[in-house]
Amino acid sequence: MGIVVQKFGGSSVADAECIKRVAKRVGETFEEGHKVVIVVSAMGETTDYLLDLAGKITDNPPKRELDMLLATGEQQSIALLSMALDKLGYSAVSLTGQQAGIFTDHVHAKSKILWINCERLEEELTQNHIVIVAGFQGVTERNEITTLGRGGSDTSAVALAAALKADVCEIFTDVDGVYTADPRIVPDARKLETISYDEMLELASLGALVLQPRSVEVAKQFGVKIHVRSSFNHNSGTIVQEVREMKQQMEKEIVVSGVASDLNVVKFTIFDIPDVPGTASKLFSALADDMINVDMIIQSQQRDDINDISFTVTRDDREKTKEVIAKTKDIIGGRNYSYENNVAKVSVVGAGMITNPGVAAKMFETLAENDINIEMISTSEIKVSCIIKAEYAQKAVAALHSAFELGE
Ligand code: ADP
Ligand code: ASP
Ligand code: MG
Repeated sequence: MGIVVQKFGGSSVADAECIKRVAKRVGETFEEGHKVVIVVSAMGETTDYLLDLAGKITDNPPKRELDMLLATGEQQSIALLSMALDKLGYSAVSLTGQQAGIFTDHVHAKSKILWINCERLEEELTQNHIVIVAGFQGVTERNEITTLGRGGSDTSAVALAAALKADVCEIFTDVDGVYTADPRIVPDARKLETISYDEMLELASLGALVLQPRSVEVAKQFGVKIHVRSSFNHNSGTIVQEVREMKQQMEKEIVVSGVASDLNVVKFTIFDIPDVPGTASKLFSALADDMINVDMIIQSQQRDDINDISFTVTRDDREKTKEVIAKTKDIIGGRNYSYENNVAKVSVVGAGMITNPGVAAKMFETLAENDINIEMISTSEIKVSCIIKAEYAQKAVAALHSAFELGE
């Protein structure tokens, strides 16, 4: 049989008992005759705890040192899981990202995997060892430790599955699969049997934590089949793959597959920017140069020769964005700026939108009926997103989920 990559998230390895349970499950897969590569996250809330700790030392920790600190979280869990497997009588070996040959670029805190040197991994697998790799981390060519951004263990797992040409990449988490909305917010959310890479990518990018968006990109690029499932039971979960199963399409045409919300948003507005060619380009080039991902953008005309520009970034880029605005102020003009943390992005996603008009209209209507004001809108072929006040995010998700009849 071939190689299976399994990833266990923080909640699946939260304490010693959980780690022993995971070890048993990993042992079962090994007994079935597979070659097994395991990727684990830091235990429970360890990463949050470490971030908090750094925050008590300084408001602005150097990103290199933050990576050095955060990488220790995953190192604890690989060693403990390896010990648990040893206790059960299996030969296991734990490897850091560096030992596993995971090379990244040098952008600390959100590095991208450039390539994986599989030599060591293959050597261990040949010796019939269960290999346990620290998720979320890698190393640059200059031997600097890097991390892949929050939720990055998903990407470690999918990238390893691609590099090793694994049969499947199983993502074990604390829910049974990918649902039509976060099952913790919408109790009647329905588990999807399958979902396409494109829809999953949108859902993940729009706030459905269950997979890191990068992991879906890598899976799509290399055709890695992902199975998202629970580490707390043996139910089959959700398969993320290229084409939806025909069965599901024939039973019912699915226009909207899911609803997501994201609170990790800050909205900036720069007022009274002179309306001359090149200003937007200067502003957004400067943001891109500092590796800040801008999401939604709105330019609104105030008077003939003056515009306001609003855009959104993630919360961890807020301080850097302020710096870039200050730096570029003299070049782009503008009277002053403001920013707002109290916003959320709610989105509906579905591949069927391409051929079914009216999804956006229905979304706006539903938000209006619930007295929720829309501050910004963006659309793509398979999603519509709105920025609203953060306090209405849960209400909006529930209302949209029911308006699009996604429930059980
Ligand atoms: P892990 O620690 O295993 O990486 P995460 O907390 O990163 O787990 O992701 C799992 C969580 O994602 C679930 O507990 C669930 O609340 C959340 N989630 C958000 N949207 C969805 C969705 N559409 N389907 C399933 N889970 C979702
Ligand atoms: N431990 C990291 C985080 O909490 C990576 C992961 O869990 O995937 O974001
Ligand atoms: Mg996660």
